[in-house]
Amino acid sequence: MKLLIKNAKILPVDAAMSVIENGWIGIDGSTIVLVEERETEAVLAFDADRVIDAKGKMAMPGFVNTHSHSPMTILRCYGDDLPLNEWLFGKMIPTEEKFSKEDIYWGGMLGMMEQIKSGVTCLADMYEPSNILTDMVVENQIRANIAGPHITMNPEKEYEEYVAHIKKWNNSHDGLIRESAIIHAIYTYSEEKIRARVAAAKEAGTGMQIHISEAPFEQAQIFEKYQKTPMQMLESWGVFDVPTVAAHCVHLTDGDFEILKKRDISVAHCPSSNLKLGSGIADVPRMLAEGINVSIGTDGASSNSNLNFVEEMHMTAMIHKGNSMNPLVVNAKEVIRMATVNGAKALGFGNEVGSLEVGKKADLILVDTDKAHLTPLNNPFSAAVYSMQGSDVDTVIVNGKILMENREMSLVDEEKIKYNVNKIAKRLI
Ligand SMILES: [Zn+2]
Repeated sequence: MKLLIKNAKILPVDAAMSVIENGWIGIDGSTIVLVEERETEAVLAFDADRVIDAKGKMAMPGFVNTHSHSPMTILRCYGDDLPLNEWLFGKMIPTEEKFSKEDIYWGGMLGMMEQIKSGVTCLADMYEPSNILTDMVVENQIRANIAGPHITMNPEKEYEEYVAHIKKWNNSHDGLIRESAIIHAIYTYSEEKIRARVAAAKEAGTGMQIHISEAPFEQAQIFEKYQKTPMQMLESWGVFDVPTVAAHCVHLTDGDFEILKKRDISVAHCPSSNLKLGSGIADVPRMLAEGINVSIGTDGASSNSNLNFVEEMHMTAMIHKGNSMNPLVVNAKEVIRMATVNGAKALGFGNEVGSLEVGKKADLILVDTDKAHLTPLNNPFSAAVYSMQGSDVDTVIVNGKILMENREMSLVDEEKIKYNVNKIAKRLI
């Protein structure tokens, strides 16, 4: 299938952060083959099967959500206004233990749909059992980095099964899926289990997804036990020998910043979740100033309480200015890079997606800018971060396939998904 998008204002998110006022994008199969500023010979010669007129719309790379737990939509607005440890151990885990595989499937389908509806084309997901997540990714045709299972069926053979599992899914489905090993957190896994996960990731050639230094209790607990920070302990156990996406990183020492930098760890900044759980505010201005790869995550819908990625971008641009009383920090262009290229790098797709350039995979969104709150469009970068709403995302394309058009989901049944999740919530909550 050859798809041509015409008359779009294009934000390619290239190195120069250029803007194309009225441009053409040609997609052949899964790949971007044209990005042109005018109707060139190449555009005229492009024999498209389908043309989308994007007049009044802005084309951007799709957003990359580097931390989520999609099935937790079931627990939306349940267990609110509690600190992290009471919320997790008192509310989330006891209810999650009652989830059937079917519940997880429908909750995850809702979570992925909600993300697509705010422009997410690539996501990191961490949930159990992870093979259900993989099925959902295939059904939605979204790009994803899935964190492999917490546990395997047979403890005797856990290590071999674990390696086989992450190897099997890594780079599968036309390259849409990357698989990572998982360490939930230093306070929920033993040293032995952490070391085994690192060995598995090394053997399978994958990365790692982990929560690090989210709330003060984690720092206190680990310091009391080892007289070191969680970051220092995880480094000493070899975790950062593999490419790592560390969610949160709210409570860091100077030494922890050194480790982030030295080990090229990608941070998944989750501002709404950190605020709602009262965990604190990560020092993103310092991370950016030190050249650390910071990306953006929604976290689960139970700690957020929505998976609207555009709201996370807005939050990212706002809280650090207020927190540091400095409006110069975390500017709009930086937020857009965090949401696209930095996220793609974090999830191992840096060479394929994150910008709209010839040769890259066609993961892009069209934003309807014919809205009161986007008029006038004086600065498209500022508009995307400070004025845009998730519901302005009109069309979502991943790997050259249309996942949503005119806000209608193309591949999944929105009503059926909502119906089933409502039914599950009625039973469990
Ligand atoms: Zn999380």
